Parts: sequence; C-alpha cells; structure tokens
Amino acid sequence: MHFIPTRAAGLARLAAFTPAAGRRYAETRNADDGPAEGGRGNVSQLSPWLHAGLLGTREVLEAVLREHGPRASEKFVAEVFWRIYFKGYLEQRPAIWEDYRKGRDGALAALDANAGLRKAYAEAVEGRTGIAAFDVWAKELVATGYLHNHARMWFASIWIFTLKLDWQLGADFFLRHLIDADAASNTLSWRWVAGLHTRGKHYLARAENIARYTAGRPEGPLAAEGLDEDAAPLSEPQEFPRRGLDLPAQATAADLAAPFALLLHDEAAHHAPLALPARPALVIGASRPAVRSPGTVAPLARSFAEQAVAGGIAEAAQDLGCPAVEWRAGEPLAPLLAAAGVERIALPYLPTGWTRDALWPDLAPLSDKGRVVTLLADLDRATWPLAKAGFFGVAKAIDGILEAAAIG
Ligand SMILES: Cc1cc2nc3c(=O)[nH]c(=O)nc-3n(C[C@H](O)[C@H](O)[C@H](O)COP(=O)(O)OP(=O)(O)OC[C@H]3O[C@@H](n4cnc5c(N)ncnc54)[C@H](O)[C@@H]3O)c2cc1C
Repeated sequence: MHFIPTRAAGLARLAAFTPAAGRRYAETRNADDGPAEGGRGNVSQLSPWLHAGLLGTREVLEAVLREHGPRASEKFVAEVFWRIYFKGYLEQRPAIWEDYRKGRDGALAALDANAGLRKAYAEAVEGRTGIAAFDVWAKELVATGYLHNHARMWFASIWIFTLKLDWQLGADFFLRHLIDADAASNTLSWRWVAGLHTRGKHYLARAENIARYTAGRPEGPLAAEGLDEDAAPLSEPQEFPRRGLDLPAQATAADLAAPFALLLHDEAAHHAPLALPARPALVIGASRPAVRSPGTVAPLARSFAEQAVAGGIAEAAQDLGCPAVEWRAGEPLAPLLAAAGVERIALPYLPTGWTRDALWPDLAPLSDKGRVVTLLADLDRATWPLAKAGFFGVAKAIDGILEAAAIG
C-alpha cells in the first residue's frame, strides 16, 4: 500500500475497502498477509488518513454502515470505536503520556550508558534478533511505515517479554516509523500488551498463533522460535487518577461571527470532516511530526504528516476562499494573525500528545483571553466520557451513540 497524504486518496481507499468491511472483515481481519502489492484486502489500512484527520470517523462509519448495516459491520465499527476510546481514555489520564515520555527518556539514557543494552536494542530495531517473524516486522515497519494490528501485538509482546527491552523504547520505535503514529492508540496499546492498561492482563505472543495467522504471506508462515510464552505481566507502582473531562460545547456560527483563523494540524489536516459552522478569514497549517520523539522520525512518517497539512491548507484556501499560511516550528503565531487582521482561532481539538505539547504554549495565551473556539467531533463528545476504564463501557453504548448521531 502506498499511503498518499491527501483526502482524495483516503476517500478512494475507503471506497475500495468498504465492500470488505462486513462479515469478511470480521472473519479475516486477524490474518497478516504481508505488505505485497494487492495483499491486505482484509483490513482497511485507513489509519494514516484517520490519524491525520484527512478522513473523519463519522464518514468512515457512515460508508460502512450504509453498505453492510449494523450487524454485519459490528466488528469493524467496534475497531473504529477502539480508536475513539483510546483518545478519550488518555484525555482523562494525561499523566500516562507524561509518564511515557519520562520513561522513554530514562530508557534512552540507559541505552547510552550500557553497551549490552545498546546492542540488544540495535538488533531489535534493525531486525537482527534471530527471531524470524520479529525481524521481518522490524524491517517491514521501517520500509513501509505500517504494520498489521496483529503484527503490532506480537511485535510488542516479543519486545517486552522475550527480548526484555523497555516498552517505552518499543513505543518510541513505533512512533518514529508508523505513518499512523498516534499518542493515544500507541501508548495505550503498548501498555495493554504489557499488562499495564488492564492491570495484570498481558498479551503473550505464541509461535503457533503467529504461524497460523501469517500463513497467507507470500513467503509462507513466519517462524518465531525461542519466545517466552510464560512471562509474567509488567507492573508499576503508580496509579494514574482520572481527571474530569472539560469538553467544549458544540461550536456555532455565533461563536465564529468575528473574523477567525482556522488552524489545521497533524491530527486535523483537512477542513471537510470538521463541519465548520462559518467560513474562516485565514487558514493556518501547523505540522510538527519531528517532535514525536527525541530520535529521528523516519522520512515516510514525517513527510506524510507534513504533506497532509500542506495539502490540507491549500484545499481549505481554495474551498473556503481565503488565504492560507504555514506556521513553522519556532515561529511565533501572533504575527501571522496580526497580518491577516484576525484575533480568534478555530482549533480542532488538540488531544494529549506531541502535537498538543508543541502547539499549546502559543495557543494558551489566546485561549486565556477567550479567543480560541475548540471544535470537537460529535462522536468524540459522546464517547469520551464513557472511556473511563475498560473498552466494555464504550462497547455497550455504541448502538446508542450511533443512533443519537444519526449514523447508520
Ligand atoms: C502495540 C500497538 C501499537 C499501535 N499503535 C497505533 C498507532 O500509533 N496508531 C494507530 O492508529 N493505531 C495503533 N494501533 C492500533 C491498530 O493496530 C491500528 O489502528 C490498525 O492496525 C490500523 O490498521 P487498519 O487501518 O488497517 O485497521 P482496521 O482493522 O481496518 O481498523 C479500522 C480503523 O479502526 C481503528 N483501529 C483498529 N484497530 C484498533 C486498535 N486495536 N486500537 C485503536 N484503533 C484501532 C483504526 O483507526 C483503524 O484505521 C496499535 C496497536 C498495537 C497493538
């Protein structure tokens, strides 16, 4: 799959995949058939476009439910809600993101100080561990910027329980290479595999399971010898208490009556999924993929994010009839607003993660003056408050959420 960072390419992928999103998806989604051209018909590979906000979850769910109805598309719909659930969960426990960053920095410092650890880490990220399946996925991730969900689970499990490397280093490796890299889905999935998300419940990769679900790869089933299939889950001393959500009200035309700038960023690169209630006087694009990691972010991942935002503001300028400008890293925001004579910003919600870390210091003073109108998707507003503990709290509410949102 060649991931093209435009909304048109995302819509084309959605149209191509929708016929397979019903029972076929439910029955075959666990198979990792490899990245060969023409392979992977069993999963959507929509995550890069969803993460970048080139596609919205609403339109993806609408397309799939229209074609298959609620029962046949139940599994696919649930997976899309996992994405929303993880976002809402991290929003209520942002300390997990802080803790991840601290743990990652500590683990990177430990690598610097310990040659043995450095060697084991290099073997893992370069695909030289001798565990054939793991080595294939390490190279595949670097070459393509994508891994199948099951491969991500196996890979993370082998990283943590067999190679006994810090989970934060693995999460960082993913963030540097995944085109769909997402602070919530990635951090919480690594924690889930480790047994930290659902305490004491971890995911152990098994050679037999890997061989079974990789049998469709052109090279045949992947071997995984020497796995620790009995490892205990990780544990941690600290709790991450839940904080209340302070979600913005639905933005109205009245909120955006004065001239405003629309800020498109790495998680909201296109205006179309935003349901804007008024036209902006200016579109600003801010892309910061380099701050995903203190290490080097791979060109594939970085360029997808940068081009998504650059293309997004160009299309917004054309469709909405206003100028567009890029807000580059290190530049102040205020002169861009002053040059266009606007004081207010419409901001697609900035979720916990590196994009927020990078942009919020400049936006906070405007927000304090009441000049930021935050846009939040209706599905997020309805779902996030339910993402308090396990996914079950969301899963049982999906039908009601879809009905209230008039989807399906
Ligand atoms: C260790 C690990 C790290 C991960 N890191 C990321 C990440 O950085 N970014 C990311 O978007 N996903 C991440 N995932 C979740 C999942 O693997 C990907 O979303 C999925 O593989 C994307 O492929 P797809 O679009 O073909 O998914 P499909 O199976 O076609 O699912 C459709 C959509 O539902 C959502 N989705 C599906 N499965 C999950 C899931 N388990 N959790 C959350 N959302 C899901 C995605 O938005 C996806 O595009 C991670 C999973 C694991 C186990």
